[in-house]
Amino acid sequence: MRLSRYFLPILREVPKEAEIVSHRLMLRAGMVRQESAGIYAWLPLGLRVLNKVCAIVREEQNRAGAIELLMPTIQSADLWRESGRYDDYGKEMLRIRDRHEREMLFGPTNEEMITEIVRGYVKSYKSLPLNLYHIQWKFRDEVRPRFGVYRSREFLMKDAYSFDLDAEGARHSYNKMFVAYLRTFSRMGLKAIPMVADTGPIGGNLSHEFIILASTGESEVFCHADYLDKAVPGAGTDFEDRAGLQGLVDQWTELYAATSEKHDSDAFGAIPEPRRLAARGIEVGHIFYFGTKYSAPFGAKVQGPDGAEHMIHMGSYGIGPSRLVAALIEASHDEAGIVWPEAVAPFRVGILNLKTGDSATDAACEDLYARLVAAGIDVLYDDTDERAGAKFASADLIGLPWQILVGPKSLAAGKVELKRRVDGTRELVSPDDVLERLT
Ligand code: ATP
Ligand code: MG
Ligand code: MG
Ligand code: MG
Repeated sequence: MRLSRYFLPILREVPKEAEIVSHRLMLRAGMVRQESAGIYAWLPLGLRVLNKVCAIVREEQNRAGAIELLMPTIQSADLWRESGRYDDYGKEMLRIRDRHEREMLFGPTNEEMITEIVRGYVKSYKSLPLNLYHIQWKFRDEVRPRFGVYRSREFLMKDAYSFDLDAEGARHSYNKMFVAYLRTFSRMGLKAIPMVADTGPIGGNLSHEFIILASTGESEVFCHADYLDKAVPGAGTDFEDRAGLQGLVDQWTELYAATSEKHDSDAFGAIPEPRRLAARGIEVGHIFYFGTKYSAPFGAKVQGPDGAEHMIHMGSYGIGPSRLVAALIEASHDEAGIVWPEAVAPFRVGILNLKTGDSATDAACEDLYARLVAAGIDVLYDDTDERAGAKFASADLIGLPWQILVGPKSLAAGKVELKRRVDGTRELVSPDDVLERLT
């Protein structure tokens, strides 16, 4: 992409309405624009990051055996009357009437709809287990939308729903998502800690919130500091190996980690003092086993191997990709701007033409640009006639992990400068070496 032809509305001033750093930087870097309270347009740069986050989420869901579909945003009120949640949900639900005065709603979640779909088709245990997910916009009329896309009213959610014959099967499905979540967040360069979370009236301990520690987080959390250095299960993990998977989940739950609702001060006190971590965190994912809570009212049952009918055991598993974009910035930024981990950077590489109009510099940039594009690398070429200083500032603000600085002085020696955003280190290298390094 050539910057001169891109749409990147960078703001030089710090927007005063933004209270936290991710919100400020997302506005300054031209990633999002507020359209109404808690409702955002994703501008091209922001959309690139959101899409990269979704791609990782999708890959790890698929790896764990979940299957993607797409349900609508608008749902009928009748569906929610079947579960009894239409009245319970309260003001967070955006209720709509169509031209025939039919009661509709903008979905805040999809347990009802997916249960209705599965009820319609699945009749035998032979069709199970099943895990279906989608990545779709949700609407929740939050009392206090704030912090930009961190707590918005319209937001993107990946929500998966598992269906099993019995509780043991459902436990395995839960474990698959647990491990998939560890891998998902780690691939984005985040340390997400699974913390025991409230299960409400269903009880049991099969609910975990995945929390990123950050001073701006809205949750109060308590955990053993060892979680920060734990190795995440590899890509070769066998998701069908029940015992193996249970072992991984056991390893990741044996140390204390809980959100404030489930906090047990005695258990926390038993952690050696220097390893006790009481902090604030951002909920980026939430997994939940809820048994037959929805299958029972919906009559979603299958015939078991014994010939009898069994209510399906279900779980649901959410991740907030739009909130994750904010969480990624909260976790990785400096005074100059965003520091994207490579896996989610909007562009992995920037080329900064430090003397646009100088024929040798232009030619060297064009050549590098063409070769990087041909190698399939996401590259943003700053071919504008801005001052060099402004180009450095923009590339750092939008957080490009690798920046190639091309100017007449180093070119005279057959070199360009390769700068790493994460530590600011610069190295003089030949264009051929740059290509080798980045491909
Ligand atoms: P919170 O406690 O922050 O209100 P929640 O517990 O209500 O979140 P869930 O129903 O567990 O949210 O939804 C799954 C995921 O969707 C959350 O873990 C979060 O990542 C994301 N999410 C929920 N609400 C919002 C929101 N208002 N804006 C952005 N993302 C959200
Ligand atoms: Mg909520
Ligand atoms: Mg929550
Ligand atoms: Mg939650």
